[in-house]
Amino acid sequence: MKSLLNETDYEQLTDDLARRVYTSRLLGRDATLVLHGGGNTSVKGVRRNIFGEDEEVLYIKGSGWDLATIEAPGFAPVRLSHMLRLAQLEALTDIEMANELRVATLDPAAPAPSVEAILHAVLPYKWVDHSHADALIALTNTPHGLDHIRACFGDSVVVIPYVMPGFILAREVARQFPAQHTDKTIGMVLMNHGLFTWGNTARESYERHIELVARAEQYLQAQVSDAVPESTSTGTAPTSAVHARDIAALRADVSKAAGVPMLLATYSDPAILTFVQRPDAAKLSQQGPATPDHVIRTKRIPLFGRDVARYVEEYKAYYAQNAAGQAAGLVILDPAPRIILIPELGLISAGRSAKDAAIGAEIYQHTIDIITRADKLEGWQALPARDIFEMEYWDLEQAKLKRAGKPAAFAGEVALVTGAASGIGKACAQSMLARGAAVIGLDLQPVRDAAMLKDKNFLGIECDITDETAVLNAIEAGVRRFGGLDLMVLNAGIFGKTVPISGLSLAEWDKVMRVNLDANVTLLREAHPLLKLAPRGGRVVIIGSKNVPAPGPGVAAYSASKAALTQLARVTALEWGADRIRINVLHPNQIFDTGLWTEEALNARAAHYGLTVEQYKTNNVLKVEITSRDVGELAAELCGPLFAKTTGAQIPVDGGNDRVI
Ligand code: ZN
Repeated sequence: MKSLLNETDYEQLTDDLARRVYTSRLLGRDATLVLHGGGNTSVKGVRRNIFGEDEEVLYIKGSGWDLATIEAPGFAPVRLSHMLRLAQLEALTDIEMANELRVATLDPAAPAPSVEAILHAVLPYKWVDHSHADALIALTNTPHGLDHIRACFGDSVVVIPYVMPGFILAREVARQFPAQHTDKTIGMVLMNHGLFTWGNTARESYERHIELVARAEQYLQAQVSDAVPESTSTGTAPTSAVHARDIAALRADVSKAAGVPMLLATYSDPAILTFVQRPDAAKLSQQGPATPDHVIRTKRIPLFGRDVARYVEEYKAYYAQNAAGQAAGLVILDPAPRIILIPELGLISAGRSAKDAAIGAEIYQHTIDIITRADKLEGWQALPARDIFEMEYWDLEQAKLKRAGKPAAFAGEVALVTGAASGIGKACAQSMLARGAAVIGLDLQPVRDAAMLKDKNFLGIECDITDETAVLNAIEAGVRRFGGLDLMVLNAGIFGKTVPISGLSLAEWDKVMRVNLDANVTLLREAHPLLKLAPRGGRVVIIGSKNVPAPGPGVAAYSASKAALTQLARVTALEWGADRIRINVLHPNQIFDTGLWTEEALNARAAHYGLTVEQYKTNNVLKVEITSRDVGELAAELCGPLFAKTTGAQIPVDGGNDRVI
C-alpha cells in the first residue's frame, strides 16, 4: 500500500474543498480501502452566514456519493456546533439523528450528510479520513484482535471497542477519545469496523491512513510467513456439471423467500472456488459479515436438489426466530440470502439488478480475502450475531428502504431476445431493459449499441440459433450470468429470396424454415424447464408477420414459416398454460426502420406502387408510420400485467390492414 498522491497535482489545489476532493478520490481509488460508497472523509472550515457571522462548518461526505468519484457538491456543509451538542446527548434514535443532520445542513441542495457525521465532528482535527480497510478488519476480526492491533500500531492509535455504527458509536468516541489520545496518536481503530486518521493537511491525514494500513498489511504478512498450509483445493470446479435448471430452481427459491424476482449471478474464479471448497467454508462463512459495511447474508449449501428446499426452510426458521423484530413493526430488509456459496459452482450473488448482484459479489470477494487472511493469522471471528441483527434492522436502513421508489416492472427478471443486434429484436431488448429486466441478446452479429453494451443488465451473445449446441451454450451462459429465464421474445428471422413457387428450390425453402421455424422449436424446448421456474410465470412473445393472415405472392417460404411458427405458438399456449407460461404472437407489418430497408430499397418500393416514400410508409388504415419501437413496446407490454390473462393470442401491429381486418 503506497500513497497515490501526486505532488504537482496536489500543490496546484488552492482551496480546502478541492484538496478534500482530491485526497478523498485517492482513498476511494483503492478497493481494499473503500468499496461502493463505503468510507467517508471530512474537512472543517468557516463559512459566513446571511447575517455576516462566521460559523464553524463540517464538510462531510454526503450519502449516495462514492469517494472514488466524489466532487465538491458531494460534501454536505453542516453546522459543527450542532454536531458537537448532539454528541453530548444520552440517546438519539437513528431517525432523530437523520433529522438532526438534515436540520444542521447549511445548504438545502446538499446531499444528506453521512451517518458518521457526528463521529467526524467530535474528532478535534481539521482533516479526517475514514475507511473500512480490508487489512485492518483482518486484524480485528480474530479471537485476539485487540492484541494484534496493539502489537501492530503501538501507541499511535486510539482503540474503541465495537459498538453499533451511528449515534452510539459517535457518543462513545466523544467520551473515550479525550482520555485515550496523546500527541503520538495519528489514528483511531474502531474494532470490527475501520480506521480513522487525521491531520493538519489533507495530505497528512491521507498519508497517515496509507501508512497505518500498510503497517497492518506488513503485520499480517509477517505473522503468517511461517508456513500455514494452503488449502488442498485446486481452485477448479469439479467436473460434475451443474445445469442451468439447477441454478434456475435455486433462483425460484431465493425469489420466493424475497417475495420478488431476484437475479442470481454466478462467479467461479479460482480464488472463490478455493474458498468455497475449503472443508471449513461453512463454519467460516456463517459467522457473519466482515464489518457492518459488509453486511450481506451468506449461506453455504452443499448440494442441489432436496438440500435447496431444506436451506429455504432453514432460512424461514431463522426469520421466525427474529419474530420479535417483525412484531415491532420493522420492515424485513431483505428476507432472502444475498450470497450463496456452493462448492460445485462457486459464489452466487442475488440482486434485483445485475449491478446490485455484482456489488454484492465484489463485497463478498473482499470478505473472502479478509476471512482468509484473518484465518491464517489466528482464526476468523466475525461480529457477534446480535450486532449483525441490529445492523440489519437499523432504522436508517429501514428508512432507506421505505424511500426507495416503485421498482421497474420487470426488475429481477430475465428476458431472452433473438435477433437482438438490430431492428425489432434490438427494440424488444431495449423495451425489456427499460422495464428493469436483464436481457440475454442472441444474434449472428455482435451487438454494437453503446448504451446496451454499457448496461450490466445486458449480455450479448453471438449465436447462430440454427446450431443446437450454440443455443444450449448460450442459454447456459445466460443463466450463469442472470440465474434463470422469465421472458422470451422469438424474433430472429430471415425473409429469403423473393421467388415464385415454380422457381423455389428446396434448399432455399429449408434455409428459411431452419431459421424462422426449426430454431424456435429448439429455443422453446430448451427454455421450457426454465420458464416453468419463473417466479411470476414465464411469458413468450413470438414475432410473426402480417403475411400470416395476409400472405403475398413470391414469399412462400417466409409466409409458410411464419404461419407454422404461429401454429407452433398456439400449441405451446395449450401445452404450457398449466405451467403458468403465456405465449402470444405479434404480427407486425411495414416496419421500415430496420437494417433490411435502405433508403434506396424504400424509394424503389414506393415507386413500384406509384406512391411517395411518405405515402408508402403510412399506407395503412390509420395512415401511421410503424416503428421497431412500437413493436418492442407492445412485446414488452404483452409480458406485463395488462395481458396477465391472455395467451395464444395474435395481435397485429400494422396500422390496420384492410386484408387483415
Ligand atoms: Zn465506518
